[in-house]
Amino acid sequence: MVYKKKKVIVVGGGFAGLTAAHRLLKENYEVEIIEKRAVFGGKWSAWKDASGDWIETGLHVFFGAYEEIFDLMKELNIYDRIHWKEHVLTYTLDAGERFEFRTIKLPSPFHLLPTVFKNHYFNWMEKLSLAKALGPILFGSRRYYDEQDKITYQEWHRKHGIADKMLSKMFLPMTLALKFLAPKDIAAKIVLDVSGTFLRKNSASRIGFLKGSPDQHFTAPLLQDIVNRGGQVVNEHKLSKVNLNSDDSIASLLVETPDGKQITKTADHYLFALPIHNLQKVMPESWLKYSYFQGLKQIKSVPVVTLHLWTDKAITDINNIIFSPDGNIPVYADMSLTTPDYQLKEQSRFQFVVAPADELIDLPDDEIVSHVWRGLQGIFPETAPKAQITKSVVVKVPRSVYWPAPGTDKFRVPQKTPVKNLTLAGGYTKQRFYDSMEGAVRSGNRAADAIIAAHKIE
Ligand SMILES: Cc1cc2nc3c(=O)[nH]c(=O)nc-3n(C[C@H](O)[C@H](O)[C@H](O)COP(=O)(O)OP(=O)(O)OC[C@H]3O[C@@H](n4cnc5c(N)ncnc54)[C@H](O)[C@@H]3O)c2cc1C
Repeated sequence: MVYKKKKVIVVGGGFAGLTAAHRLLKENYEVEIIEKRAVFGGKWSAWKDASGDWIETGLHVFFGAYEEIFDLMKELNIYDRIHWKEHVLTYTLDAGERFEFRTIKLPSPFHLLPTVFKNHYFNWMEKLSLAKALGPILFGSRRYYDEQDKITYQEWHRKHGIADKMLSKMFLPMTLALKFLAPKDIAAKIVLDVSGTFLRKNSASRIGFLKGSPDQHFTAPLLQDIVNRGGQVVNEHKLSKVNLNSDDSIASLLVETPDGKQITKTADHYLFALPIHNLQKVMPESWLKYSYFQGLKQIKSVPVVTLHLWTDKAITDINNIIFSPDGNIPVYADMSLTTPDYQLKEQSRFQFVVAPADELIDLPDDEIVSHVWRGLQGIFPETAPKAQITKSVVVKVPRSVYWPAPGTDKFRVPQKTPVKNLTLAGGYTKQRFYDSMEGAVRSGNRAADAIIAAHKIE
């Protein structure tokens, strides 16, 4: 078996694009990556601010269920940069109330038993209502999950008689953490499918944090490997137009340079690893005759805000991810505890996911900070009132991950497209882990597989 050396242009330097580039270089392809921003890593990027602090696009954690991202990290010799945390999910509520979900080392599904028995926050009727509904979550067939794409998670929850308190106190922060969407705005399928993945295997929901910034501890080693293998890496260049041949295949790309010039780029094959809204912007009209692209046009994206907040005193001692159903900080962490490079002495350095963000994203930064700060006073009534904010940075992403609204899953597509020299990658393309770090890496691997298969010659 031989492979003919071909050139692939990868557009989009997030983890889907970078993974695909890495794979293709290993298969002896010539690869050029074009990224519009100064930094690589896309939704999982980081940059230093004027005072030298790393600012991240958003709070990112690994789950034990991930596989292909770990394979990539092991290959790059950076797997040890993940710091695994105690296997417990802590919920923090208004007026300082708390509850936890802990799992133990028993074969699935028995590892979940303490979760049901030991939790003191929900009463027995409420816990029983959830226990009765666990069957379809744990043992649902793929077909069953697919059918649940027609309804919202809130509808599914109520249809199965699960207590409403579990919806507002347990599932609300979960779906907001998962896709920054409330249970009424997200399809039941993704919630059940992801919950099933996490619940079936004991270690699947274990959470890990990177040692420090993703830029330093993942993107940089990955980019270095790409460059070492001969890959060309071009940042601050934006794909602005796709020129076509008469058969709808790509003739060339028009790319905008930092000084506003348009240059033309050509290759044997093109891989677009763009967020869905950016893909929609550059998709030529004539591709809309294919149902593949018609569906992609329908997919929307979710807004999200991240708040980085430094305080002069330590507010929490929880060295893990933290959930909260009250207010607009469904998931957060004190990075000064979770992330060794961000360690501070007796101070906190929070990273909050602020969601749902549709009503908050247009507020001035100081109003967002005040809103979150007020919520934090209620969650930590003992410590927060004694602390002062020393620094805050707001990062707004108006279109982040794709929106898994009911009826959207049918629009997700395989990486191979009807256009003969185009392949797609990204969380919205089909793979089991949706729009996540693992999903991005998987989609990059599947896209590389599709390109390699297309060019394989006997
Ligand atoms: C706040 C937040 C928190 C998250 N937390 C987690 C988490 O804890 N765990 C988890 O697994 N996942 C998490 N995710 C999801 C995860 O970040 C994404 O699923 C993943 O990074 C998507 O990677 P991607 O390569 O598909 O897309 P992207 O990262 O969006 O990469 C696409 C790239 O294309 C570039 N681009 C766009 N238009 C053009 C153009 N015209 N020309 C050239 N380049 C262009 C962009 O600049 C970007 O770099 C989170 C996401 C967000 C927003």
